[in-house]
Amino acid sequence: MEKSGFILPFSEVTRFHGHVCPGTAIGYRAAEIALKKLRSPRASDEEFVAIVENDSCSVDAIQVVTGCTMGKGNLILKDYGKHVYILVNRDSGEALRLSLNKSIEEINLDFAKVRDKAFSESASPEDKLEFEKQKNQIAQKILEMSDEELFKIEPVQMDIPKVRIFSSIKCAKCGEMVAENRARIKNGDVVCIPCLDN
Ligand SMILES: [Zn+2]
Ligand SMILES: [Zn+2]
Repeated sequence: MEKSGFILPFSEVTRFHGHVCPGTAIGYRAAEIALKKLRSPRASDEEFVAIVENDSCSVDAIQVVTGCTMGKGNLILKDYGKHVYILVNRDSGEALRLSLNKSIEEINLDFAKVRDKAFSESASPEDKLEFEKQKNQIAQKILEMSDEELFKIEPVQMDIPKVRIFSSIKCAKCGEMVAENRARIKNGDVVCIPCLDN
């Protein structure tokens, strides 16, 4: 816990994401736990690589708290639809895999019912309000759960993903620049992916 001073408050995630929800709470906790266990003194925004196995709200929290982003190439999406988060410290080579133990429906047994009601044809403004309230309550509960209750946490061996840089070349068809590794060859010409099919 002594390293927790490094970790941004949850309100920063909400500011970025736009609302409070169970997903951002899950991502926040995953990032917080991993940073507490893996952080080295030389902290930087490129210290970690995050591999996320879903594209839900939680990924926004991972980005804000760990500094891993799509743009820097240290946020890798494996779209398996699983609440699994792997954080790798590039300096130490240490990696932690966190897998959510409970579904949101198990964390709050009323949630499925309230959600279905809020999304039904006959939903009243009160039903929608109740859904928002429940989301807030579940997020709060997730923020307060113990590490082990929330996640299965295990160290893993990983090859440290390298940040790769590619130069751009001109597509022979549309004339726009395209990163070398995304360019394709068509009839001997270098083309971009959208130009490949038409
Ligand atoms: Zn959300
Ligand atoms: Zn093109």
